[in-house]
Amino acid sequence: MSVLVEASTRRALRMLHAELDACSACERMKGPVVHGPPVASPVLLLGQAPGPHEGALGRPFAWTAGRTMFRWFEAALGLDEAAFRARVYMAAVARCFPGKASGGGDRRPDAQEIARCEPWLAREARILQPELVIAVGTLAIERVLGVKSPLADVVGTTLRARWHGCDVDVVALPHPSGASPWHKVEPGRALLARALDVLAGHPAMRRVIDAARAGVPA
Ligand code: SF4
Repeated sequence: MSVLVEASTRRALRMLHAELDACSACERMKGPVVHGPPVASPVLLLGQAPGPHEGALGRPFAWTAGRTMFRWFEAALGLDEAAFRARVYMAAVARCFPGKASGGGDRRPDAQEIARCEPWLAREARILQPELVIAVGTLAIERVLGVKSPLADVVGTTLRARWHGCDVDVVALPHPSGASPWHKVEPGRALLARALDVLAGHPAMRRVIDAARAGVPA
């Protein structure tokens, strides 16, 4: 990506973020809106929704699940948390904290909330034209692939999807929160290791890693 294209992509993302920050379309959602920085990247990470701490900290995956996820990435990609945040665009199915579910975990965004938040993703996809989507957790995986799939069927391989007008490769990862032990026991542990290998070898991810090392746009 040339320096000029990178600058105009970042400008478009900054304008989108200014609008997104003002969104209060969902009554049950608890603000503030959470998003990452305006990173011009061929790789987009899609999570589910921020947790209770991300709003105050002002960035996605800022708490314990994020610590686990960034440990995975540092080991597999050689990018620490700061480098990953600076080089991969971080989005989510919903951008506000949904509150707690009756069982104690974070509430899953409902269908209307997902639909209301979807146009932000569509606009981000149009601006970024991502080559690779890292889908983290079952809801994000389902939204990118368009179908519900057991984690064992989709983690550990590269998938293809048409997502918001873009033909993208998809690497699916389990959610790193402690709510599910899937990635800690077999076959989840081995499939997660395979998925991180697949991610590290993907051409778009390799470009991002190489560019981060060289200090140039990917
Ligand atoms: S979840 Fe999305 S659509 Fe709903 S208020 Fe937050 S930013 Fe707006």
